This record gives sequence, structure tokens and C-alpha cells, in this order.
Amino acid sequence: MQQENPHITFITPGAPVATATHGGRAKCLQRLVRLDLPVPPTVALSFDEVHRIASGQMPDMADLLAPLDVAHLLCVRPSSEDPDWGGPGAVLNIGMNDQRYAELCERIGETAARSIYARFIQSYSINVARLDPDMFDDLDMDDPEICQQALEAYEDEAEEAFPQDPAVQLSGVLRSMARAWEGTSARLLRQAKGAPADAGLGLVVQEMALGLGHGECGSGVLQLVNSTTGMPQITGRYLSQSQGRDALRSGAEALFLEKDPRGSSLEEKAPEAFEDLKVHAALMREKLREEMQIEFTIENGAVHILDGVRVQRSSRAAVRIAVQLAKDGIIPKQEAVMRVEPRALNELLHRQVDPEAERDVIGTGVAASPGAATGRIVFSAAEAQASAARSEACVLVRRETTPEDIRGMHAASAVLTERGGITSHAAVIGRGLGLPCVVGASSIRFQMRKKMLIAPDGRQFREGDVITIDGSEGEILAGAPDMVEAALDDAFQTLMAWADDERDIGVRANADTPADAKTARNFMAQGIGLCRTEHMFFEPGRLTVMREMIFADAPEDRRSALEQLLPMQRADFIELFRIMQGQPVCIRLFDPPLHEFLPTDRSGLRDLAEALNLPLSDVTRRVEALGEYNPMLGMRGVRLGITVPEIYDMQARAIFEATIEASRDGDAVVPEIMIPLVSAKREVELVKTRVDAVAAAVRTEQGEDFDYRLGVMVETPRAALRAEDIAPHCHFFSFGTNDLTQMTYGLSRDDAGRFMSAYVHQGVYPEDPFHTLDADGVGELLLLGAERGRDAQPDLTLSVCGEHGGSPESIAFCRKAGMDYVSCSPFRVPVARLAAAQLSIQDKVG
Ligand code: PEP
Ligand code: MG
Repeated sequence: MQQENPHITFITPGAPVATATHGGRAKCLQRLVRLDLPVPPTVALSFDEVHRIASGQMPDMADLLAPLDVAHLLCVRPSSEDPDWGGPGAVLNIGMNDQRYAELCERIGETAARSIYARFIQSYSINVARLDPDMFDDLDMDDPEICQQALEAYEDEAEEAFPQDPAVQLSGVLRSMARAWEGTSARLLRQAKGAPADAGLGLVVQEMALGLGHGECGSGVLQLVNSTTGMPQITGRYLSQSQGRDALRSGAEALFLEKDPRGSSLEEKAPEAFEDLKVHAALMREKLREEMQIEFTIENGAVHILDGVRVQRSSRAAVRIAVQLAKDGIIPKQEAVMRVEPRALNELLHRQVDPEAERDVIGTGVAASPGAATGRIVFSAAEAQASAARSEACVLVRRETTPEDIRGMHAASAVLTERGGITSHAAVIGRGLGLPCVVGASSIRFQMRKKMLIAPDGRQFREGDVITIDGSEGEILAGAPDMVEAALDDAFQTLMAWADDERDIGVRANADTPADAKTARNFMAQGIGLCRTEHMFFEPGRLTVMREMIFADAPEDRRSALEQLLPMQRADFIELFRIMQGQPVCIRLFDPPLHEFLPTDRSGLRDLAEALNLPLSDVTRRVEALGEYNPMLGMRGVRLGITVPEIYDMQARAIFEATIEASRDGDAVVPEIMIPLVSAKREVELVKTRVDAVAAAVRTEQGEDFDYRLGVMVETPRAALRAEDIAPHCHFFSFGTNDLTQMTYGLSRDDAGRFMSAYVHQGVYPEDPFHTLDADGVGELLLLGAERGRDAQPDLTLSVCGEHGGSPESIAFCRKAGMDYVSCSPFRVPVARLAAAQLSIQDKVG
């Protein structure tokens, strides 16, 4: 009995068919059979059987054909474990021969019979006999003699008569499909799609419903949702007198399904069949717990369901479909949360190049900040600002960006840099602003002085030319392709709320400005995990004061400049605290080397000399003196805080005064103050003493009490190793995995882009460690630091605030390491929330 043969199995409700042994299509057909849908009789061949066929051991064809009606033609379709792994194309109309042709001429008419026979000869010749497809080029499918001509062409080329025995034809088809799957190119293709090299292929042999003949006959596909939006909408196509997926061929005069003002529809032509299809599709949706596209044939008005495949969908549709299935009680909410790939949310959060649009790619680089934007090329921050003032979208092109470019970045629609990697300045700021950004685009020649970009194909793009930056794909496109807008719709909000119900690790945002904080709040971040205060000093009125402070000779001069900065900082913090409404805000004290605030070109130096009323030579000498050979490892972070303590004093005062002010009209604010670049316990002791003294002074002056928490950014390997010494002085540790990665590898985060792809390509690193947390090395430091810190201070709050905080793999690591929260760019917050929820659901359901 075939039902009991696990390798050649007639599909019945109880037959031993499984996805892991017979493939997804066979299993789906069994489900449709169980639903009593009109599925033509089908035999499934297991992976093992197909493997045997590929190696030349053919099954007993009589046995295989026994449950099928020999009066019908047959088709064979592939059934791989995962439909995305592909497979050889289906072969239809097996069993067609001279005798059948004569019978079909009687039954369905000569034209239809001729079309079937001629197409089968062609398909058999190409797919099975492996003859040259060109041999049919000169044949005219409408010629009444076409079958005869095709048969002769076959005989000439194959040097044998066209096989007439259906069993011989079928065995030829099975063998060729089995072998095609095991061929080298198919293996490589599968591997590229993530399939194991030895993935199995099942085959299904199905009686054909013809789709050609008398009465209403044809074939098509139908689904109940729109693949782009996910909204309910019956979509698909139907073509009378057709087979397979003919209706989807471009140029086919296919009908709409539902009544449609643009043309005639199946609903009008065959209303009963259309009704049946809708009912079948709804049943499939409910019972298969998925939006399915059904492939159907109509034969003299009767519907046959040939197959069901998961509806192709955009990310936006994926969210809506999952939410609607849960709302309809078809799947649990947890499953809806699991069904959406976290990174796919990026597509909803940002404008994207329309997937249908033509892409004229002129260069590629690192996809540093997702989304796409079009604008005219500008080569400086000042031009970007001028362009914004004219309400003209622009793309800021720089060799690399520095803090001086921040305002230009705010003004630009997108950023392109020649240098840099995933954690370089442009990338970090771009992600923070939700600004599409491609960095390290070294295939393009940047001629900054000539204000020109030269693409690898020689095309030149000058200032004012329109280009598009696709920061999701890391591509630079010429011109302005069509875009699809961001879609933060109700379905997205619902899914995120369900995710939050499941999540067991906090998600905060890295936010430096009020605008960032508002974005963070919109995306429901649970506070700010990192506010990089240095960005606040680049506001136009402040930069000059900042420079005065840097140039001050005497402590009094410095203090006077800082006094001017104090009210500005205080106002910044008041605004942040108010926007975050009682949620935690972690403010990092000043981190970068001072010289980053100084001009680099001659005209900037002249302006500065003017502003400070100093000779140009004096200013130039002082700027040079502040330069360092290796500024990232030089006088920055806490080192600056200790050697120029007035800066941190001013910042602490601004934070405390803002705390009192913002607490007056809302919840009590408990600020978190974070010390950057710590590597020794004594650094923390010294800063803590001064910050505590400032707090005491502010309390006394204002007669108001407040709490605050002091912590350390663990971003040097030594801080992680000596966590035991450092933790007793801290309320929290936040791991700065950007610098920690840089210092653990000894790898410049700004320059690694130049060789990173070669390194990853040759397997030196499995991934860019600035992108995906290096769990083995940097991860070990994280675990050590967390464990040693908590040993010394059990209440220590632990988090990660480097760029890794937003990546799903890193969140898994952080959860395992017992972190309390992760903090990432505001636009990555939803991705992090969903990824964290999925991890916790996985743990719950095992
Ligand atoms: C870090 O080093 O990981 C970090 C978050 O700080 P920054 O990127 O500002 O150096
Ligand atoms: Mg850092």
C-alpha cells in the first residue's frame, strides 16, 4: 500500500508526509487535502527517494502511478524543505502523446490540445532531454502543424522518437529534476540562500486539471491581502485557457479577480467559481494560520486548488498580516510577535527606495544608517545649511565627518563619506538623526577640491547634481528613484505593544538633542541611556565660547567662559528632562579631545583669531600644540576631566540645577551622570569627589534636595578587568562597546572601513566587530566586567550603550549576561524592542 510507503506516498489526510522528509509543498498539499479542498490526487516522493532517483535508482513506475488516474495528464513540482531554497521548475502535461492528443482534440478542441502537446514537447526537450532551447525559435505555436514540427525537431536533435509512454516520460522528468537539484550550480545557489549544501528535494506528482477546453477554463492565483500594504484586498490574476502561472506572465491578457473598473474580472465571468475560491482561501487562511496565495485551475467552471504558498510580503505587510491574524484569533499574540523579523522594521521606520524602481547604482559603501533620501550634492556643512535655508534637499558629501559637520548633517537629507566604518562619526550621528548614510564609499573617487565625485564607471557628479543615498543597502544611486514612505501605522503600534508585554530587558535610546529625545519618546524608549554632551557645544553661539574656554590661559579666564556655557547646558538638560518626563536620563560628561572644537582650515583660524583678538600666528601655534598623534587614546574623556576639572564641574552644576528646575513642574528627576574612558579606580574617586561637592553646593545654594546616580562608561579593557575596584564607587556601568571594540582589537573605528570587507571576506573576522558584537573577545570582557562589577557591588545597574545595543544578536548576548538594559540610536529602538521580546518568548516556549 502506497499510503504506508514513506518514500512514495499518495497524499491522504493520514499519509506519512512531513516537511522535513517530503518538503513544504507536499506537506501543504496534505493540509489542503485535510481541509477537503478540491486538490487533484497527488503522490509525494521523499527526499531519500529523489536522492536515489538522482543516483540512477528509479522507483517502480507502475507502483508510483497506481493511485493516479491514467486518463489524466500529470505534472511534477519541486518540494524543498524551505520554499525560499528554490528548486527545478515544474513540468506540466506529462503523459501527452499522439493518442492523448487525438482524444483531447475531441474533448477540449484542437487548438487547446495542440497547445498542450506542443508545449509539452518543448518543455520535455529542454528540461529532460537537455536539448538546445533555440531549436524551437523558428516554430510558430499558432501553426496547425506545430506538434508535427516539434516532434520532428525533437527527433532530429535527440536522434530518437519522442517517447510516447507516459511512464517513460514521467521517469525522465523525475530523473532530470532530481539531478538538477544535485548539480553544482544548484547547490551553490542554495547555499547562497542559506540552505545546507545537502538539503533534500521532494517531488510531487499530481493529476492535472487542464485549464484549457470547453466551458470556462483557465488558471490563476488569488490571495486575500495586498502584498505591499498587508491590507485586506483580493488580488491575483486569472487567464482563460491557460495553465500554470501563465496568468502572471507580463503581457498576458489576464483578468482581474474582483470586479475592477480597469477591466473585466473573474467575478463577472465565473461568479460561482470566484465565490468558491474566496471561501477556499478564507479556510486556508484560518486553518493554515497564514495568508496564503492559492494557485488554481478552473476546468469547465469547476475550481481545482493546485497549490498554496505563503503570500510574498513587504515588511510593512508582514507586520499588518501578523497583527490581523492575531486579532482574528487565528494565531496567539506571541506568535504574531515572533513572525516579524526585527530588522525588517527598518523598512517601516524610514523612507525606502521603491523596490520596483530602477536603480542606477554609481557606487557602494557601508550601509551605515538605514533609509533612503535624494538631494543635490553639497561638499560642505555650510553649503548644506545654505541649501536647507532654500528648502532644497541636499546630500552632504565629505571625506569623513567631524563634530564641526553636525549642523550640516542636521540640514542634509543624507550623508555620504569616503572613509569610515559602522561606528565612525557620520554613521553614529546619521543613525541618531535617522539620516540615511553610506560611509566608506571608497569605490567612488572623492575630489573635494574640484567638488566632484567620480564613479567607478567614469561618470562624474558635481555639486548640485541629484543623487540618492540608500543607507539600507549601502548604495549610491544616480537621480531620484521612486520612494516608499515610512509606515508607523496602527498595526506597527499594536505589534510593538504586544512585544513590550513580553520583553524582559530594558531598551533606552542614545539621544543628544531635544529632537533625538522626542524621537526616543515616540519610539517608547524607556529613558536615555547615553546623552553625548559634547554635541551640545556645536550650536553656533556656543562654539565660540567653547573656543574661548579652550584658549584660556588662566583658570579664571576658563571659569568665565564656562560660566557663559553653564546656562546653555542647564537649558539643554531642562529640556531633555522635560521631554523624557521622569524617565531616566544618563548624561555622559564631556568625552572628546578639545582640539576637535578648533578650526582646521586657514579661514577658520583667521575667524578664531578675530574672535579672540589674538594674532593669527598665536592661534595657529596653540591649535597645533593641542594636536595629538593619537587623539582617540590621548587627552580625552576622564583624563580631560581630571586635568581640566572646571569642565566637569560646570556640567555637573548644569545637571543639578536643571534637575531642581525640571522637578518643580513634574516627577522628581534623578539624573544619571556617566564618566567616560575610565581605566583606573582613582579617576572615579577624583571625579566623584568633585561631583559630590558640586551637588552639595547646589543643594545649599538652592535649599532643595535631589538624588543622582553616578556611573562609569566601561569602554577600556582595563576598566572591564578592574571592574571590582571601580564598581564600589558606582551606581551603574554602561559598556561602551564602540571604544571597547576599538581598544580590544587595537582597531581604529574610523579607519577600519578600509580593510574590513577584505577581512570579513577572507574569514579573518566572521563579521565587522563594530557591527556585530564580538562575543568571544569583547564579549568576554563584558562578561568579566559585569561579573566582577556585580561581585563588588550587587546593586550595580548594567547596560550596553555602544552601537551594538541595537543589534538583535548583541541583545541576546546582553540578556544572557544579565544586563538591565541596552541603549541604542532612537531609530533602532523599535528593532531592539522586538528583538528583545522574541528572545524572551523563545525562552518561555523553550
Ligand atoms: C562607545 O564608545 O561605545 C560609546 C558609546 O561612546 P562613543 O561612541 O561616543 O565613543
Ligand atoms: Mg566611547
